[in-house]
Amino acid sequence: MRKRFLVNVEGRVQGVGFRPTVYRYAVEHGLSGFVKNVSTGVSIEVEGDEKSIKDFLCYLKYNPPEQARIAKFNDEEILVKNERGFEIIQSQHSEDLAAGMPPDLAVCERCRSELFAPDNRRFKYPFINCTNCGPRFTIIQDLPYDRERTSMSSFKMCSVCSSEYNDPMNRRFDAQPNACPDCGPVLNLIDSSGNPVSGNPLSVCVQLILDGNIVAVKGLGGYHLCCSATNDNVIRKLRDRKKRPHKALAVMFESIGEIIDNCEINETEKHELLSYARPIVVLSRKDASNVSKLVSPDTNDIGAFLPYTPLHYILLSQTEPLVMTSGNMAEEPIVCDEADLKNVLSSIADYALVHNRPILRRCDDSVLRIVETKRLFYRRSRGFVPDPVKLGLEGPSVLACGGELKNTFSVTRGKLAFISQHIGDLDDYRSFMFFRKSVDDLLNLLEIDPEIIAFDMHPGYWSTKYALESGVSKKVPVQHHHAHIVSCMAENGVENTVIGVAMDGSGYGDDGTVWGGEFLIADTSQYRRAAHFKQYPLPGNDEGIFHPLRMAFSVIVSEFGSNADLLNSNVFSSISYLDREVLLEMIEKGIRSPLTSSAGRLFDAVSAILGFSGRISYEGQAAICLQNIAKAGVNENYSYSYDDKGAAAVVSFASMFKEIFEDIFSGIEKSCIAAKFHNTIAAAITDVCVNIRNTEEINKVVLSGGVFQNDLLLKLTVNCLNSKGFTVYSHSIVPPNDGGIALGQAVVALAKSRYK
Ligand code: ZN
Ligand code: ZN
Ligand code: FE
Repeated sequence: MRKRFLVNVEGRVQGVGFRPTVYRYAVEHGLSGFVKNVSTGVSIEVEGDEKSIKDFLCYLKYNPPEQARIAKFNDEEILVKNERGFEIIQSQHSEDLAAGMPPDLAVCERCRSELFAPDNRRFKYPFINCTNCGPRFTIIQDLPYDRERTSMSSFKMCSVCSSEYNDPMNRRFDAQPNACPDCGPVLNLIDSSGNPVSGNPLSVCVQLILDGNIVAVKGLGGYHLCCSATNDNVIRKLRDRKKRPHKALAVMFESIGEIIDNCEINETEKHELLSYARPIVVLSRKDASNVSKLVSPDTNDIGAFLPYTPLHYILLSQTEPLVMTSGNMAEEPIVCDEADLKNVLSSIADYALVHNRPILRRCDDSVLRIVETKRLFYRRSRGFVPDPVKLGLEGPSVLACGGELKNTFSVTRGKLAFISQHIGDLDDYRSFMFFRKSVDDLLNLLEIDPEIIAFDMHPGYWSTKYALESGVSKKVPVQHHHAHIVSCMAENGVENTVIGVAMDGSGYGDDGTVWGGEFLIADTSQYRRAAHFKQYPLPGNDEGIFHPLRMAFSVIVSEFGSNADLLNSNVFSSISYLDREVLLEMIEKGIRSPLTSSAGRLFDAVSAILGFSGRISYEGQAAICLQNIAKAGVNENYSYSYDDKGAAAVVSFASMFKEIFEDIFSGIEKSCIAAKFHNTIAAAITDVCVNIRNTEEINKVVLSGGVFQNDLLLKLTVNCLNSKGFTVYSHSIVPPNDGGIALGQAVVALAKSRYK
């Protein structure tokens, strides 16, 4: 008997070839009806004999397009319409499409095999793509996502490409960036003065890289600086020119096999590396690896990733592993256009491999680590943006401006929060321009007119100034660590009151001091500071952060006085007599030495005591070095004290510092001391949580803040809390660092609007 069904599918089902797949399956099952995009996903009506409909539904459910993620699949019987044929209905309403703007997708297997098939018309064509793969987010000018609103609009498809594009049975049906050597973008190689280099751009480029040159290579969301990862000299040159002496550089490998040769890797990591997002995954280096140690001088890790554009595949098939790092100076935004390329070319790169498909939206590579089996993001960007995060509450649209460092911002619509790509450090003027442009861009694209603007309480943040000057009248300041905790609650779907543990570098406290080792009793709309780490003066304020040894000096002076013997130990011998006098005066009189409870500074101080005596060259360097030396299998910890007489309890580490020095003087290995320190922080966090639970009866603990990028501390803390029966939540969707706080700000603003 003839029947008709209405089917609604939710999830990532737009811009990923869902409609043509439905079309093909429907035609194959002899069904009539239509498929169209709607605001919630895809809506299908199918009509035919009952068995065919059931087969069709089952087939679709279990064989969706590769890129689709089905979150909900509903079907119900409706009245028969007796129409003929099956149709793909084009969307008109941009509102229907906004939710479906997909991230950039790595080359799919079928395109990759065509790329290396000599008889294929796209053999070694570096812009091959199909409905299942290729650029999206970085080439979209406007929605709905159609070729004329992408940076492919200036390329007119040849007749062969255009027949692929228009044939619903073809795997390039509706593939907006579809192109071939006859009609699509082309490569060019230029030298550092911008002059074209003769010869085949790809083969010449390969030779230049093998010869030890640095080449700027145009990628999906910006330029990479690219050089051999096995050649110490060129890496030294790159670090020198980029003014990045120590911070890790990512390495692109040709295949999983090559990664296995160089790194320890488990199944989850393998899966992550091969995913369409192709993030950089931080892995442990194998001793046998021939990758230069200079890619990551501070750790035994390698940030590894696989090719994600056809161009990468072609390059890597002819070279050794390659360093692929963002094409920019230090903390400036990644270069994505020809004007900025000039700066990189004159100062860092020897050559540039360019092409004529414009990048409309910058997007850096994403970086993460797998901890147990969960993602721990350091940077959430390409491949994940603009996939929204689903919230447990909804309300008016919010624009949340994020923090100052590692900025991302967020906009909400209904129950969805869209988090921007990585913007960078806003104290850099170019990054702030990029921030402003990206806010306008995302609001336009999603057609959102925010009613509320949320921002950090720090009066000096550029994101705060932006919010205060913006035309959005309803302004909601959010405390930094409350935002951290709520970001983690939001991604875990937690709404009730929790113990929020924010272990952070720094954030503006509601008492005007610098916070960063915080225990908040929090829900999504409010918080109370239940406990915190003891505050110490940070001599030199923001500049002081660059000098871990000065922080160590400050802690010792604060705990044991300016005449303490410890100050005369070898640990502080690199501080000159003059500097010492200045430091003492600053600390004792509180000159440019704000008090901070920062957990990050505590890691810095201990790292300095164990030998990190210089200036850090990137955020978190001293702590990373400390984690790197911490030995496995050490179970002891140092002592600490807990004082709960005041309004908020205070955890003090005076006895820990005393014991650390005793260990140093008695010749205990630094690796052992570093391990005991990590254990101490995990134990102290757990003790504080137990104390809070005793009075507040809260059993849920939420962990956030930049210090939890330290996977050793994270694992120790989770284990310790679990052993005391706590339910523990940590991050896996946004980073624990300030790249995650925009999500928290947005949710706090929504929650507050609900209670008013
Ligand atoms: Zn493909
Ligand atoms: Zn063509
Ligand atoms: Fe923070």
